[in-house]
Amino acid sequence: MEGAQVDTEAVRERLLKRREELRQRASDASADLRHESDPLSADFAEQVTQRENDDVLGAISHSAQAELQQVEGALRRLASGRYTTCAVCGEDIEPERLAAVPYTDRCRSCAEGDRAAAGRGARG
Ligand SMILES: [Zn+2]
Repeated sequence: MEGAQVDTEAVRERLLKRREELRQRASDASADLRHESDPLSADFAEQVTQRENDDVLGAISHSAQAELQQVEGALRRLASGRYTTCAVCGEDIEPERLAAVPYTDRCRSCAEGDRAAAGRGARG
């Protein structure tokens, strides 16, 4: 297990940058949703288009906020030194897994165990 180390400082920088982007995106989308610079049109067909656009903006804002929460969670784990520790079994999370999924809080086997447990029957 030696050699592969997680550069938590680099991860932190990356997460902080990502957090700014997501905050910006979420607030842009919600400003558009309030039609601050683009009031609802008096024309019905035009309103339909605007409403469809609002659905898209709502989805953007929603997914940005969901990701934002994951980023915040990862930053908290970084701050408390638990970033590389699996929240389920307490073992180290594989560095390559963290590189691929920087917000994860569990190791590969626990993440896979979760999925397996969901589909498991009462047998045993
Ligand atoms: Zn685990």
